[in-house]
Amino acid sequence: MPCQILGKLTSFLSRKTQPLSDPYEYLPPLVIRDVRESLPIHPDKKYKKRSRQFTHVAIHHSATSVGNATTFARYHVNDKHWPGIGYTYVIWKDGTIEWCWDDDVRTYHVGNSNDFALGIVNVGEYNSEIPSHIQWDTCIRLVNKVAPIIPVENVLGHQEYQDYQWKKCPGDHWNMDKFREELQQFREGTLKFPSWGRMNA
Ligand SMILES: [Zn+2]
Repeated sequence: MPCQILGKLTSFLSRKTQPLSDPYEYLPPLVIRDVRESLPIHPDKKYKKRSRQFTHVAIHHSATSVGNATTFARYHVNDKHWPGIGYTYVIWKDGTIEWCWDDDVRTYHVGNSNDFALGIVNVGEYNSEIPSHIQWDTCIRLVNKVAPIIPVENVLGHQEYQDYQWKKCPGDHWNMDKFREELQQFREGTLKFPSWGRMNA
């Protein structure tokens, strides 16, 4: 019965060509607020563009229990006299993300490494507080979204950058080795959320 054989062959082929299911389709979408045009900026100073595409990501904590892109921008502009907020992304404790700059803007956050490192800050003081699992998980997902092909070895905490060994950022309770390990697992589709909760279980 050629028709039956053809039918089987067709169904076999269509099965083979179906896309692999997304292991993370159960996760809620990332909530990203675009605040690029609404943050306080310096009246005269302006950040330059990077000389090249960024190759690294720098993870920070805000070293404050509360705050958001607006309060950090105000501090960076008024107190530090920077052109604007130093971070490209801010992640709140509830997982809300604020998007502050295009990724080709060379903001100030890791000194000599600013040109090639994109900065993400997590609101919190992680030498004394424990990060929420939603903020930790959001940070993994955001790094993967903005830097999908950057190797996990190039995702470093602030204090892992040149000249910043003295800086306790992103804090003792934001374990960068664990973060890189989980980012790698996320890329491989094997990380189970909430990862932070399991880590502390
Ligand atoms: Zn920092």
